[in-house]
Amino acid sequence: MNNICEVLENISLENYNTYKIKTSAKYMAFPKNKEELIELLKYIKDNNIKYFLLGNGSNVILPDNKYDGVIINFKKMCNYKFLDNEKVFVEAGVMLNKIAMETINNNLKGLEWATGIPGTIGASILGNAGAYLHEICEYLQSIEVLDKDLNIKTLNKEDIKFEYRNSSLKENRDYIILSAILQLDNGVKEESMKLVQDRLQRRLASQPLDYPSAGSVFRNPSKEMPAGKLIEEANLKGKKQGGAMISEKHANFIINESNATSSDIKELICLIKDKIKENNNIDLICEQEIIDWD
Ligand SMILES: Cc1cc2nc3c(=O)[nH]c(=O)nc-3n(C[C@H](O)[C@H](O)[C@H](O)COP(=O)(O)OP(=O)(O)OC[C@H]3O[C@@H](n4cnc5c(N)ncnc54)[C@H](O)[C@@H]3O)c2cc1C
Repeated sequence: MNNICEVLENISLENYNTYKIKTSAKYMAFPKNKEELIELLKYIKDNNIKYFLLGNGSNVILPDNKYDGVIINFKKMCNYKFLDNEKVFVEAGVMLNKIAMETINNNLKGLEWATGIPGTIGASILGNAGAYLHEICEYLQSIEVLDKDLNIKTLNKEDIKFEYRNSSLKENRDYIILSAILQLDNGVKEESMKLVQDRLQRRLASQPLDYPSAGSVFRNPSKEMPAGKLIEEANLKGKKQGGAMISEKHANFIINESNATSSDIKELICLIKDKIKENNNIDLICEQEIIDWD
């Protein structure tokens, strides 16, 4: 694989997931462009090796056991380009918060809500990331994807079903997202920055950003009934399991207080789900993805 792209062997994943779970993998590959990615996937298929796609690891709960395959890391597929008519081309590994700031600096408006989201564009489209009543699908024109036979295809926004923190891409997992074209509007940098500051202040005031986490654990059952409120009402704030804790600052965050394992986090998730089912007869849906390598 080393002749295709950069590959690290027997690698700790602690710095590749925002929960900082101390797990590991046999290989991690860093394709720099779609050509390298296709070559890599051909090699992986020919040699019957398992693979897992990783963005910034900010929406996954990785397992404690070592992954016996290749983690494909998108971080080096990070080119972007401003096009005519307020459009931007972005590769899958570009960070959403970075492209949000780049567009604002270029007097384009639309992505102010996204400046606090530490995920890649590819995964953010897959999960329809959003905040403050906006979501990424509103700004999407089209994406370029690889299908299971390694053909490159273009999907227009209308070809994809988006819903709150979900999409048909995520449900079906038929495609690897290579890049996207975003459609923004003309804006004024100073105006956008006011919004950014406001959103940032709100996050700093309400979220435990000084601890490792993967953002909100559960989808909100409805706007009137945020998951955090239900968990707070169940008196679960501060509840600990091993090194993981339900945040005192925001009940819909689980934080890695001290060397938390994947199992610690998953146990707290089960505890919350059981309690909210018992108290409110609501089945909370996990926004974070619990990964099982096997
Ligand atoms: C402090 C904090 C705040 C957050 N705030 C928000 C918020 O306000 N709103 C919000 O929506 N989210 C939020 N999140 C969650 C997270 O940042 C988003 O869900 C983000 O979109 C995940 O991107 P990622 O690159 O980290 O994905 P990862 O966790 O790396 O991957 C998520 C999934 O995408 C798949 N994947 C990755 N790349 C590709 C690709 N190119 N093609 C196909 N599949 C792919 C992976 O296999 C995995 O299944 C927050 C997280 C943190 C830590």
